[in-house]
Amino acid sequence: MLSTLAASALGLNIGATPAPSSSRGAVSMDLGRPLRVAVVGGGPSGACAAEIFAKAPNIDCTLFERKMDNCKPCGGAIPLCMVDEFELPPEIVDRRVRKMKMISPSGREVDVGRTLKENEYIGMTRREVLDAYLRDRAVELGAKPVTGLVQKVEFEDANGPYTIKYSEYKPGEKKGTPSEAEFDIIVGADGANSRTAKAIDAGEYNFAIAFQERIKIPDEKMKYYEDLAEMYVGDDVSPDFYAWVFPKYDHVGVGTGTVVNRPAISEYQAAIRERCADRLGPDPKVMKVEAHPIPEHMRPRRVVGRVALVGDAAGYVTKCSGEGIYFAAKSGRMAAEEIVALTAGGTRLPTEMEIKDTYLKKFDAAYGPTYLVLDILQKVFYTNNGAREAFVDMCASDYVQKVTFDSYLYKKVQGNDPINDIKLLFNTIGSVIKGNAIAKPDRTFSNPVESLKRL
Ligand SMILES: Cc1cc2nc3c(=O)[nH]c(=O)nc-3n(C[C@H](O)[C@H](O)[C@H](O)COP(=O)(O)OP(=O)(O)OC[C@H]3O[C@@H](n4cnc5c(N)ncnc54)[C@H](O)[C@@H]3O)c2cc1C
Repeated sequence: MLSTLAASALGLNIGATPAPSSSRGAVSMDLGRPLRVAVVGGGPSGACAAEIFAKAPNIDCTLFERKMDNCKPCGGAIPLCMVDEFELPPEIVDRRVRKMKMISPSGREVDVGRTLKENEYIGMTRREVLDAYLRDRAVELGAKPVTGLVQKVEFEDANGPYTIKYSEYKPGEKKGTPSEAEFDIIVGADGANSRTAKAIDAGEYNFAIAFQERIKIPDEKMKYYEDLAEMYVGDDVSPDFYAWVFPKYDHVGVGTGTVVNRPAISEYQAAIRERCADRLGPDPKVMKVEAHPIPEHMRPRRVVGRVALVGDAAGYVTKCSGEGIYFAAKSGRMAAEEIVALTAGGTRLPTEMEIKDTYLKKFDAAYGPTYLVLDILQKVFYTNNGAREAFVDMCASDYVQKVTFDSYLYKKVQGNDPINDIKLLFNTIGSVIKGNAIAKPDRTFSNPVESLKRL
């Protein structure tokens, strides 16, 4: 451990391929060939990055995806603005949710959604459908798909090409074929367990574990969830997050998540199943059980050399709502657009500083306030049952509903109404006092080994 620390302080890399150097200048190219860009990962972040590279002049884009029919464990909720911005056809959205039921620890139910305009909704998607659509579109535009697991990224010479080593899965073959290829620029879009992030020594992040069951319920029960989603809070379903029932095409997704007590995730899942049991009916059929880490914050380094991380690989999931699909797609698109512009028609290699000054600066300026506000809200409202009661209580206010929906649907921090803001402050204090008076204290749990390791 000490030797690793000392080595990294001296800029040495022991037992690993060196991460790309950050200090080189831009390289003008006259290679007589297009620039070679690799996008590692074909989820929303990778597909949306690949689409931009595919359309750019003098750039060859290869899209690596380990499993082309991957079904990412996910609630699949997307904001309205994503549908237009990413030109999603109507069939990608299974259900248009216009009503939310917030359910407090004591069982108080508050209906949310009456401030929505007629054309406004939260889109519910199945990830296997959404991801396939975005990926196929990038491929149709010219990205070269490779079904392969990227295992290693090597950086022998900072000015030279980067080498990707991968196992390629060819049709009809059970075993992967070891392969390698050279690239000038790499976009790491390989999710929460990103190997690209490891290769560039991007640093760790803390993570939540989220769990979801896809459950088939009788049609008459499904009718109730036609355009309605439920959000449950309480220390029984999560000590630091919320549990959900989201309607999908022909089933519901029921799930929960936690950072602070990850080993107890199946207890929290059992609790949400119990709380929604009447609504699911006597014979719910579990079609699929899925779980995956969710990053809690951004990685310390998101761009190193000519490698840029996007989506979950970079850590772009918001606290409080656990939302990452839109930010993944947006960051993939933004990073690719900025890199394409920097290459001046595929004739020069951008520097690390240039990529940071464009992609990172613009992304942080656009979404930094959203991450900050949601982080604060999670800390205030998800930490004890009194605060959770207050949170649900406050959701009854039209002003809170409008500000929350506008922020979520259009991805801008809203709220510019001083009179209502002052009213809200007093209501919040009132709700917290009321909440604390009726709430059961949270159960204590001891988990010194695993989940309390916060980075
Ligand atoms: C249970 C759960 C519920 C969630 N619910 C929601 C929600 O309702 N709404 C929302 O907005 N967000 C939600 N999220 C978060 C959301 O799923 C992520 O933020 C989003 O998927 C990030 O997209 P991405 O493209 O960055 O990464 P991913 O979607 O993880 O895609 C990464 C892709 O890279 C591929 N890959 C990985 N490693 C390699 C490799 N070495 N070589 C080749 N390919 C590789 C994977 O197969 C995958 O297709 C949820 C997450 C979980 C776990």
